[in-house]
Amino acid sequence: VIQVFENIRQCLTLQGAEANQGRHPTEEDLGVIEDAAVVVEDEVVRWVGSKRDLPIEYSQEKRVSAGGRVWLPSLVECHTHLVFAGSRAGDFAKRCRGMSYQEVAKAGGGILSTVAHTREATKETLLRNAQIGLSAFESRGVGCLELKSGYGLTLESELKLLEVVQELQKYTKTDLLPTFMPAHAVPPEFLGKSSNYVDAICSEWIPEVARRKLAVFFDVFVEEGYFSVKQARQLCAKALESGFKLKLHADQFSSLAGAQLGVELGAVSCDHLENISEQGIEKMARSSTVAVLAPGASLFTSTAYAPARRLIDEGAIVALSTDFNPGTCPSHSLPLMMTIACAQLKLTIPEVLVATTLNAARALGREKSWGCIAPGRAFSVWQVAVQSYEEIPYSFGEAV
Ligand SMILES: [Zn+2]
Repeated sequence: VIQVFENIRQCLTLQGAEANQGRHPTEEDLGVIEDAAVVVEDEVVRWVGSKRDLPIEYSQEKRVSAGGRVWLPSLVECHTHLVFAGSRAGDFAKRCRGMSYQEVAKAGGGILSTVAHTREATKETLLRNAQIGLSAFESRGVGCLELKSGYGLTLESELKLLEVVQELQKYTKTDLLPTFMPAHAVPPEFLGKSSNYVDAICSEWIPEVARRKLAVFFDVFVEEGYFSVKQARQLCAKALESGFKLKLHADQFSSLAGAQLGVELGAVSCDHLENISEQGIEKMARSSTVAVLAPGASLFTSTAYAPARRLIDEGAIVALSTDFNPGTCPSHSLPLMMTIACAQLKLTIPEVLVATTLNAARALGREKSWGCIAPGRAFSVWQVAVQSYEEIPYSFGEAV
């Protein structure tokens, strides 16, 4: 079936950004076409251009009006912790009363409180929670989304979380990419014995998840008080050997040279980077490892932002994410992250649009399938009721 979509106020193809590998995004890279037409055949884009240039061969095909909306590639959310149980609103209330994140964790909150609730939850509860979260992302333009385990921290409960992702995929067209993240925190049973925990993950857990093909990526929280660079090396070596691609939570609260480690290991992305060093910035800039920034978490916890301007100016490939999680960023809105990135990280509008589409797809190794509207690519667009694409970051997360 061939359909000709017309009455598209603006169509952002991002073909220029693709040609430039998502580095130094400019207005030209967005490939903005005014009053565009898009020809789709069996869910694949055949032609995109100005309506007045529509090839004569399509002139008799079925016309569909886009209602004057602005089109861009479906958004890609490349970093979430969507599968969990329990609320952390109480933690937030304590922080509003002046307690620090660390003090709240000591008082029984923090990651480990989510772990306790998640271990007790049934698969049905977790699935229902994840479905609600996923549809919140979908209603804000997302067509491809990554989900991490990491709130189970026993083999059994980590498998339960990854099975929930597998089940969730049956109910949605959104492309879901699961990440195995047992090294998210040291669980209570291994307190003070983190090297034993790392050994268990390597000898038993990674082989089991690989055997059952439950995840594409493996992720480690490289951070003081969590997992050292040495432990991350041990974990990542085993994960690579078992066929996983790597992502790292790096240089978030302290500068442990996590970014350098990620580049050295060929990770698809290094995420957070609020405390990345100058050397780390240089390494990221000269690699194809994507820098995934999560400005919503910085805003929500009143902590430092990542040096986004420096990263982009040096030539790094920068993506934006909500880092959706119950503790530090319970937002399902990439458009809101665009606004925060423009206002606080001083990014330009082309930079935030590329960061939430094509570059986020790169952070998932999916840049051939997502983030660009071009002939031969699968048809998946976000249709937004705005007068121009600049209104998307301008609308404070409310563009739909
Ligand atoms: Zn995270």
